[in-house]
Amino acid sequence: MLKGQVALITGGSRGIGKAIAVKLAQQGANIAVVDIGNPQTAEQTCDELRALGVEAEAFTCDVSDFEAAKQTVDAVKARFGTVNILVNNAGITRDSLIMTMKEEAFDDVINVNLKGAFNFIKHCSPVFLKNRSGKIINISSVAGVFGNAGQANYSASKAGLIGLTKTMAKELASRNVTSNAIAPGFIKTDMTEDLPNEKDLKAAIPLGRVGTPEEIADLAAFLCSADYVTGQVICVDGGLAI
Ligand code: NAP
Repeated sequence: MLKGQVALITGGSRGIGKAIAVKLAQQGANIAVVDIGNPQTAEQTCDELRALGVEAEAFTCDVSDFEAAKQTVDAVKARFGTVNILVNNAGITRDSLIMTMKEEAFDDVINVNLKGAFNFIKHCSPVFLKNRSGKIINISSVAGVFGNAGQANYSASKAGLIGLTKTMAKELASRNVTSNAIAPGFIKTDMTEDLPNEKDLKAAIPLGRVGTPEEIADLAAFLCSADYVTGQVICVDGGLAI
């Protein structure tokens, strides 16, 4: 159980981030939902979390902005007193083959998916070191494990997250901070709504179906309580990456 713990979840208002927020709240964690978009969506998610009997608050922040990330972590500390769990989940795609990929599309994806995680780890780490405990969970992707044609920017950002995860595991272990990555396969969310050839995709997945956000959240909840697991990258993908 996570009663009284404070979890900061980026991209927590919808999709996988929201499922993680709900699962951690069901275990008693108070939730800071950090999002860039529509404050109404984040507020609605917070209402659902409060209905589970925990405290929840929405914070608007572009995770790729270093200073904004610092202000957000400060605001979360002021509101909740501390941060115990950091879930770097915010992510975007700007897919195209390398021949047509614009520089801006590469930069945008790296800045949100990879630098965004760095920003929040950087600003949460002093809290974790002071507490002598903390849990970092980075949402990577199977695209970062085995690459994916048409996703040079996204795959690079998600592979970068794996390096960041392992390095944080080594740097912060002496202070009892764990750092792990989850690599989802195809999960039903807004991000994958327009995927072409869903039938072919399913055929490539040994378990024969796409996953649900709740199946990612189950692992995230486990990692929040797993004190002797660190530096790991765990695929939740129906066997796609085998
Ligand atoms: P989603 O439904 O598109 O949600 C993405 C979330 O990230 C939204 O809450 C969005 O906020 C937030 N976000 C985007 N840019 C942001 C920024 N600059 N600053 C702050 N928040 C930002 O995506 P999802 O499918 O749940 O994916 C969540 C994570 O899992 C991503 O990192 C994704 O790469 C990863 N993943 C997903 C799949 C999949 O199949 N769905 C597979 C592998 C990995 P707004 O609502 O405010 O726009």
